[in-house]
Amino acid sequence: MSIFDLAAGLPPASAGPGAVCSRKACRAQASWQLLWNNPKIHPPERRKTWLACAEHRGWLEDYLQTRGLWKETIPMPAAPTTGPMEHER
Ligand SMILES: [Zn+2]
Repeated sequence: MSIFDLAAGLPPASAGPGAVCSRKACRAQASWQLLWNNPKIHPPERRKTWLACAEHRGWLEDYLQTRGLWKETIPMPAAPTTGPMEHER
């Protein structure tokens, strides 16, 4: 494992129920979305997303901030309930 695996080998983030942390080898449920943009290769309005569990949020933020890529960190949207939503009466 190299440092490049940590950044370049990330699969596209998929937000949603069961989404896991983007930190390599972490299988924890993601609770944060880190939005970032690389001005050298992305248009300014483009946002890439990494997912982070509570434990790795700081690590990933630091990684992006060090490189000047970090934009903001937002909580994951509430996971939609998988069960029936109707209240039976
Ligand atoms: Zn994690």
